[in-house]
Amino acid sequence: MDKVIIVGAGLCGTLLAIRLAQHGYEVALHEKRVDLRTETLDAGRSINLALSHRGLKALALAGLEEAVRKDCIPMHGRMLHLANGETRLSPYSGRDDEYINSISRPGLNALLLNEAEKYPNVSLQFQSQCLEVDLANAAGKFKQADGSIKDVSGDLLIGTDGAGSVVRRSMMSKTTALLFNYSQDFLRHGYKELSIKVGASGGYSIEKNALHIWPRGKFMVIALPNLDGSFTVTMFHPYEGEAGFNELNTPEKVTSFFTKYYPDLLAEMPNLEVEYFENPVGTLGTIKCYPWQAFGKSLIMGDASHAIVPFYGQGMNASFEDVLVFDKYLDMYSGNWEKVLYHFQEERVKDANAIADLAIDNFHEMQNHVADPFFARKRALEMKLEQGYENYRSKYSLVTFLPDLSYSKAKAIGRAQDEWLLEAVKQDRDKTDSLDDIYQALEKLKATFI
Ligand SMILES: Cc1cc2nc3c(=O)[nH]c(=O)nc-3n(C[C@H](O)[C@H](O)[C@H](O)COP(=O)(O)OP(=O)(O)OC[C@H]3O[C@@H](n4cnc5c(N)ncnc54)[C@H](O)[C@@H]3O)c2cc1C
Repeated sequence: MDKVIIVGAGLCGTLLAIRLAQHGYEVALHEKRVDLRTETLDAGRSINLALSHRGLKALALAGLEEAVRKDCIPMHGRMLHLANGETRLSPYSGRDDEYINSISRPGLNALLLNEAEKYPNVSLQFQSQCLEVDLANAAGKFKQADGSIKDVSGDLLIGTDGAGSVVRRSMMSKTTALLFNYSQDFLRHGYKELSIKVGASGGYSIEKNALHIWPRGKFMVIALPNLDGSFTVTMFHPYEGEAGFNELNTPEKVTSFFTKYYPDLLAEMPNLEVEYFENPVGTLGTIKCYPWQAFGKSLIMGDASHAIVPFYGQGMNASFEDVLVFDKYLDMYSGNWEKVLYHFQEERVKDANAIADLAIDNFHEMQNHVADPFFARKRALEMKLEQGYENYRSKYSLVTFLPDLSYSKAKAIGRAQDEWLLEAVKQDRDKTDSLDDIYQALEKLKATFI
């Protein structure tokens, strides 16, 4: 059986290794860092994640959904903590099985590594850092823990080495041979991780089964529950201005800012000042590129080919879905890598671009929701539609809970619905038209995309 080299044993690379091993391929998985099961890595960087239907579907393909669900905390809705101190729970769906899940990133990665290790045809190599890749020959140079350089080669090389991908950089260096297109867009916002302590009696100090949001217009904080009763809190703030990370540069300024904007949160964060200054500010950016494959011998997947901003909670889900789509073409064109890679790329690039755009949409929508009364009315109308009509799905629901609908279709339908609804409230049709008329009009609109 062919040998596949995978660069990067993060979430995507490890699931891919498992799936290839299940098909009988020989897999060599190289990870630049130490084994995260033996050492804690990356304190302060995206500790927990929202896992939803697309990611779960890919995990199910590898027989892992049930095992992963044991480590999940269901989040049935968004709990909004408004500036006036009120809280409001907004359910994700009226359907029982439609919720998202909070899961520990290192926990999930460890579960996947444990699983990968069970296959005799997978070799796991930590502290093996890819330095450069020979794309046409599925080969690369890997720096080992002792500083030596190891030459590695196979029949196929796949880079799942994240947003800073070395494999993608090799593709960029072949710009003319591959006609390689690349774009990178940073937001003027960054993120910082903090935590809410375990509650007084060892439980949760705020609602366990929700994704908490403190929306404050141009900046916000979110919190996702952890299994031990704590919450991981993420600040999404600009770099500049009163709320900017550059401005919040002394313990006094941080505490007084939280007292003013997040007083209820402050009470639950005794370690705020320590964590704030210990944890880094992460950047938020979108990377798009094309092609993803080179010479029928090398491929990039996951964040390496499509890093997106986290405002839809879909980066990992999309990376897992990559594995699912790859698997489909593996079945279809087994033995012909050129075809597998080409068809995977052609189907997947447009969907990855779509979720990247949707995530940016959401970043802007989250900022505008608070200030714009039309958005509030549009959301109220949409909630009525969701409650009254089994078939009506918001853009969020199309993206999150319908894994059989591609991201690009979800984007097209979701954006058209949003535009229609916003225009309707601007014309006061939410006050004059019956809900049924509005629903029928939206059904007609949807039919034009399917
Ligand atoms: C703040 C934040 C919140 C997020 N929240 C969510 C969420 O709620 N839901 C969601 O679905 N997604 C979320 N994401 C996105 C998610 O984290 C990524 O999409 C996901 O981690 C991508 O997985 P990956 O395996 O492609 O890349 P990574 O997880 O980045 O893994 C890449 C791996 O490759 C290794 N590597 C890198 N370079 C080399 C090299 N040269 N040689 C060998 N190994 C190498 C790295 O050490 C790493 O282990 C969030 C992201 C951020 C920043």
